[in-house]
Amino acid sequence: MSYFRPNIEALSGYVPGEQPQTSGFVKLNTNENPYPPSPKALEAIRRAASERLRLYPDPVATAFRNAASEALGVPADWIVACNGSDDALTILTRACLSSDDLLVAPTPSYGLYRVLADIQGCRFEQRDWTPGGGLSEDFCRGAKLAMVPNPNSPTGTMVRPEELLELARRSEGLLVVDEAYVDFADRSCVPLVAECERLVVTRSLSKSYALAGARFGFLVAQPHLAATFLKVKDSYNTDAVSIAAAAAAILDREHFEATRAKILATRRRLEGALADLGFDVTPSHANFVWARRKTPLEPVYRGLKDRNILVRYFRYERHGEGLRISVGTDSEIDQLLAALREML
Ligand SMILES: *Cc1c(COP(=O)(O)O)cnc(C)c1O
Repeated sequence: MSYFRPNIEALSGYVPGEQPQTSGFVKLNTNENPYPPSPKALEAIRRAASERLRLYPDPVATAFRNAASEALGVPADWIVACNGSDDALTILTRACLSSDDLLVAPTPSYGLYRVLADIQGCRFEQRDWTPGGGLSEDFCRGAKLAMVPNPNSPTGTMVRPEELLELARRSEGLLVVDEAYVDFADRSCVPLVAECERLVVTRSLSKSYALAGARFGFLVAQPHLAATFLKVKDSYNTDAVSIAAAAAAILDREHFEATRAKILATRRRLEGALADLGFDVTPSHANFVWARRKTPLEPVYRGLKDRNILVRYFRYERHGEGLRISVGTDSEIDQLLAALREML
């Protein structure tokens, strides 16, 4: 007899990018922000650590909901604070999917969706992007829940928000737009959530706000749906220190805009330099670049790793392989490019 549910016994878990616990790496593999978080967030962390640790945190993170409401222009009761946006995806899965239900996601995209479906024990189907990088009209067909990263990972491509709204309108279930990278793009689906209750957006403070270590994200949904998601989440899913950090970070627009501008400038330079090195570079709307090549890329990935430069190597059935390279500081990108010039 197994101790585990059959789907857990059979599960192959999510494989995150390497997180070396020693220094000395040029780390361009998990799309972290190369710049520090807002000094206001650091100050809020110090204050919360000295004053807030004895008591349980606010279960609904009111300080963050109010701050995000101000920053994004949506009412606070449309926002559910989460322990990273991965927690938002878990809450959605738990709230919506029974064993007969179907979760769909595009491929290639974020590998966690399949894992969440397998843990939940529901059905899962990957559906191809159209050749133009869009989604077919019947993308959500039969799905209780559909998850679409926008911008997508690992390709960095983007679907117009109006197209996603149209898919949500046509769907019978919820369409979750995973906006982990949207701060590096031009348009968000958040303003469209009011147009259709089946459109739900998840957001992360890990990348654009440089708070990956604090674990903070949120979802935006119409309030009657948000109230149901609150029932499903762990009672204290976000901690007092992270709530304080996230609220301060999302209100510091000046710091946000300044680091965003630096990352976008470096992204442009990286795209150009990789193209000069013979890579086929997909124009990116995120803080990483998807680079493909006619010659095998796994040796390139390994060669970089031997030089203590970490990037992500992905290979997909039917879609081939590529390197996903996070936009680091200018100096980190210089080191990457120098290594590539040596190797290629
Ligand atoms: C990084 C990432 C997430 C998770 O972000 P956290 O807020 O750190 O949990 C979710 N979706 C995609 C597509 C990501 O790349």
